[in-house]
Amino acid sequence: MTASGTNSASGVDGSFSCWFECTTGCAGRWPLTDVLYRCPKCSGLLTVAHDQAAWKRVGPAEWKARFEARAHATEWPFGSGVWGKREVVCPVVADDNVVSMFEGHTNLFWARRYGAQVGLEDLWIKLCGNTHTGSFKDLGMTVLVSVVSQMRAEGKNIPAVACASTGDTSAALAAYAAYAGIPAIVLLPRDKISTAQLIQPISNGAITLSLETDFDGCMKIVQEIAERDGIYLANSMNSLRIEGQKTVGMEIVQQFDWEVPEWIIIPGGNLGNVSALGKGLLELREMGLIDRLPNLICAQAERANPLYRSYLTGFEQYQPIEAQTTLANAIQIGNPVSYQRAVRVLKEFDGIVEQATEQEIVDAVVEADATGLFNCPHTGVALVAFKKALARGDISRNDRVVVVSTAHGLKFTDFKVNYHRRALDGIRCDGANSEIVLAPRYQDVRDAIFREIDRRRG
Ligand SMILES: *Cc1c(COP(=O)(O)O)cnc(C)c1O
Ligand SMILES: [Zn+2]
Repeated sequence: MTASGTNSASGVDGSFSCWFECTTGCAGRWPLTDVLYRCPKCSGLLTVAHDQAAWKRVGPAEWKARFEARAHATEWPFGSGVWGKREVVCPVVADDNVVSMFEGHTNLFWARRYGAQVGLEDLWIKLCGNTHTGSFKDLGMTVLVSVVSQMRAEGKNIPAVACASTGDTSAALAAYAAYAGIPAIVLLPRDKISTAQLIQPISNGAITLSLETDFDGCMKIVQEIAERDGIYLANSMNSLRIEGQKTVGMEIVQQFDWEVPEWIIIPGGNLGNVSALGKGLLELREMGLIDRLPNLICAQAERANPLYRSYLTGFEQYQPIEAQTTLANAIQIGNPVSYQRAVRVLKEFDGIVEQATEQEIVDAVVEADATGLFNCPHTGVALVAFKKALARGDISRNDRVVVVSTAHGLKFTDFKVNYHRRALDGIRCDGANSEIVLAPRYQDVRDAIFREIDRRRG
């Protein structure tokens, strides 16, 4: 088992270590198995720091060999895209306590036809929604629930895990907790998530609470529950989630045989994911696997754009806002928890922040769907940012561009159904492809088919 990098029966390799530390620089290190969400000294967010000297002792050639050997293997737990990079993600959980559904290793979709339409050949969509619960949230949740499982095995009293959610975090938490047999509680903004998102935690047996508020309102309550009642908080304020999610950038680079694309574009709401993407890429550079960084664009819905507004001031000013209703409901967040983390990453990458109106989001989704994709609205937000950066000339025609698709479109069919029925409130539905209802008569069916073939030819 030379490629595995483990040397003990439990799977924990003592030559790697990591700990929580404060993101604003307070002294102190805390074990990942402490129940800790914020710095005990300044209440700032924590980050997981690793002993990077140990990474350097392995060296880039050996890292590549390990990561490649493990990809798509069945050996527990390396078949997971997250646990296949275990040493640099979370080397403190024993094999038996890993809670994994072999998440990660999602495919890169070469958007040939869509790219040709917009004038860029080298366009790829990282389909993070092709995963157990249909969104990238699985990447972070496997790490968080595994650490909880480790803590419970060590005898810590953690009665349950809980999160506030715009719909995808709750689906992931409910599934991973159910898999591990840990009670889960999810707090959702009533009537602000899709039917698919609501039925996921219900099916997985989570205690599902719909509150008459928005995501930010749910977030306040769940933090209070965590602080006062000892229930473990699973929101991305918890930096364990970031450790799993950071593999998305590492994986993109690995999928291109360790070549860095010129651009990576990602939608942002609570801003954990853009922070995670940046952290992973910076660490890949520390490991010696890459020597330059891609350009980053974080894309927001115009109706939930506090980061965009701050970007316009060069991140000098920042004001939480009340997020307005947007089709991109998973990023309908006015007071992003990871704002500071994201700004640090965007400054490091000299990143761009872009925004998208509702009409722009829908148009981008519909256009791309017509070339074989099946996008969620958040991916639409990122596609709009891509098109704007291409039109401005920031992205040049020969660049390789990766758009991170954050969820599977099947979780968000309501707006597509309404669009194609020309019944989407406030949106022009010029590209609607309505179903044709016919009597079962040969001549009628035949006429309809050839009429439509002609119409599509233009
Ligand atoms: C959570 C989520 C996002 C936003 O990620 P953040 O870390 O909150 O910025 C985007 N798209 C989808 C589908 C999500 O579930
Ligand atoms: Zn601190």
